[in-house]
Amino acid sequence: MKSKHISKVIERLKKEDIGLGSREEVKEYFGFSNIINFPKGFDVDDIGELNTCDKCGNIQNPYNEMYWVGEECQETNDILEGHNAVCDECFDDLMKVKNYTWNKNNELIKEN
Ligand SMILES: [Zn+2]
Repeated sequence: MKSKHISKVIERLKKEDIGLGSREEVKEYFGFSNIINFPKGFDVDDIGELNTCDKCGNIQNPYNEMYWVGEECQETNDILEGHNAVCDECFDDLMKVKNYTWNKNNELIKEN
């Protein structure tokens, strides 16, 4: 499953015949701020492994946690409304907008 943004990235890569061999090249073409946080040795050759956040557009590496619609609980779906997948930071933002918080059992609860 891929987020909405990554299909556009892959589309562009195919159309413009861009071969990406290193994280520097990914940064050059897409310039996403979090690329410096990719783990050392991260292999961008397999572009299919990349995902992007639907909200901020940052590239996420496959080892980063992302929140996916339909893969968690109903509360997550409610928070994600309109997004397929978002990064941790954007999920926190969306939670606040919808008045959700984590309880001590690590469950999402809606505050009144
Ligand atoms: Zn994001």
